[in-house]
Amino acid sequence: MTSSAHTPSDSPPPIELTLLIPCFNEQCVLAQFHARLMAIVEQLKITTEVLYINDGSQDETAAIIDQYSLDGRTRSLHLNRNFGKEAAMRAGINEARGRAVIILDCDLQDPPELIPLMVQEWHKGFEIVNMQRRSRHCDPWLKRTTARLYYAVMDQLIDDFDVPREVSDFRLIGPNALAAIRAMDDNAGVLKILVSWLGYPTTEVNYDRKPRQAGTSKWSSRSLLNLGADSILAFSTRPLRMYSYLSGISFLLGSLWIAGVATFGELTPQHLLLQAILLLCLGTAVVGEYVGRVLMVVSPRPKSLCKREQP
Ligand code: UDP
Ligand code: MG
Repeated sequence: MTSSAHTPSDSPPPIELTLLIPCFNEQCVLAQFHARLMAIVEQLKITTEVLYINDGSQDETAAIIDQYSLDGRTRSLHLNRNFGKEAAMRAGINEARGRAVIILDCDLQDPPELIPLMVQEWHKGFEIVNMQRRSRHCDPWLKRTTARLYYAVMDQLIDDFDVPREVSDFRLIGPNALAAIRAMDDNAGVLKILVSWLGYPTTEVNYDRKPRQAGTSKWSSRSLLNLGADSILAFSTRPLRMYSYLSGISFLLGSLWIAGVATFGELTPQHLLLQAILLLCLGTAVVGEYVGRVLMVVSPRPKSLCKREQP
């Protein structure tokens, strides 16, 4: 008599690694990327799945990755619209079946050939393996400058933990870190900073970031600005504190001046009024940004919604 009950040998081996690839309008580069990726997957000694997240592409991306999904090792998840790379990565982390996840871009700027090295570092005991670019020589001047500014500002605003420089989203996230991220709200903050905040054993591996192989960058100046603002608003209240100090000093100096204890050269009541108005504007802007962030965090909306999933 045969039993229909599942035995351990019936169930597929647990997936060790998910390769998570967010893509938005990437039809030009996907074939090249997938070929190089699968060549590496073949060599890996651990069970691996490939998970494409289609972030609301309007070109042939959806059809292409659905085609790849027929191989049994690849899956695709389609978001309802373009929610942005952060949302796509978070959707992928929630969806991944592997014990660890490696996030990589599909424009071949993050070489898939480095995946075995990342796995090696994970197996040495590092929960997070950050890929750190050696230089930014292939980025345009504006991007290099804004990136430098971003790290300088983050250094000033965050003291509790280090934000590694020149590390973007190309990283391995181990099982404990994945569990911690999944337990948090979708709006817990920009992933690359959140991962540093977690405080798990982390290593940085240097690599040469290659130029995009086809297509164009999907990041507009506005989305970069939003990412920068979100990094600050989610992890530091120091701008609020700085504003409080500024207001306090201003109040003190103004009081001394009104009481006649001190004079400040040519300062007139009009100057004082102007300064009060400027401080009020600045305060409204700073506080307004934080209130906006609070509204986003308490909103019942998830970070993204998906249409359908390929089995
Ligand atoms: N991406 C995405 N959603 C977006 C923008 C980008 O999923 O709204 C994906 C994109 O397809 C690529 C990765 O994120 O796989 C990095 O994007 P891109 O190469 O445009 O960024 P850059 O390298 O210029 O910073
Ligand atoms: Mg790119």
